[in-house]
Amino acid sequence: MKKILFLLLLIGLISLTYMCSLDQQPPQPEQPPQEEPDPVVVEPEPEPEPEPEPEPEPEPEPEPEPEPEPEPKPEPEPEPEPPEKDNEFMVNLPLDDPSLRLYKGVVDPRSVDPHTLTEVDITSVVNKFNILPWEYAPTDLVDINANGVGGMLLRREAAEAWEQWRVDALNDGYTVLAVSSYRSRDYQATLFNNYLANHGDEAVLWSAYPRRSEHETGLVVDLSNSWSIPGEGFIDTPMGQYLAETAHNYGFILRYPKGYEGDTGYTFEPWHYRYVGKEIAQKMQQEDIPTLEHYYYLTVEQQK
Ligand SMILES: [Zn+2]
Repeated sequence: MKKILFLLLLIGLISLTYMCSLDQQPPQPEQPPQEEPDPVVVEPEPEPEPEPEPEPEPEPEPEPEPEPEPEPKPEPEPEPEPPEKDNEFMVNLPLDDPSLRLYKGVVDPRSVDPHTLTEVDITSVVNKFNILPWEYAPTDLVDINANGVGGMLLRREAAEAWEQWRVDALNDGYTVLAVSSYRSRDYQATLFNNYLANHGDEAVLWSAYPRRSEHETGLVVDLSNSWSIPGEGFIDTPMGQYLAETAHNYGFILRYPKGYEGDTGYTFEPWHYRYVGKEIAQKMQQEDIPTLEHYYYLTVEQQK
């Protein structure tokens, strides 16, 4: 029995010793694994974060761009309105308007609040109510043969028409002199101021305020049988008659006819011919339309 008890005691001691050795081992292996994973896990995580952020930003930008493009396309439809505005004018001048100053039934341009043309072409109406843009100047002016008078300029189309008219007149026995044609804005201003200084308000009867003169369009030529502008009696001369009867064949009209001073704003000028093109000139001649103001009233204003 003592041997058995001794063996049991010995076994118990050995078991206790082994158990104690197991309890002491765990703290040793736990320490190294705690240090190693920490630096490995922390470093790779912050790197992938900044990459996905810039990607979602450029995506919403291309979407709003295609939307405004289809909107300006329907705009060209209302364009036909501007040319109509260019032809806005008053055929029957509001002579009873108290704000207008009149001299012998003709409007003083200094009392008019005019409409400025947005486009200028060979058919434009330029008068005391419809004026040229302040900076406008023809870009295709050419020298013309004035039968001896130098320094005369017209726009190319008007110059070619005048040349044909001049040569035909010469062949018919008339040496027609062109005594005034294109005038710059500054020259027209000087001209008007000189007339005003020498003749007072009467100047508005025959001289135009700057930007209101058809001479500034480069489409007008004053014709004469002498070296100066003739008087009203020119219409009763053979040359005056010849010019009045043939002008439309070349695209010119007698711009300020007798009896229509209130419509044109100027007294009768049988020497002042305006180029408007053959189509309008011949229509006016065939239908007895007296002035360019009447022509536009009949063809544009009444059809609105
Ligand atoms: Zn003239």
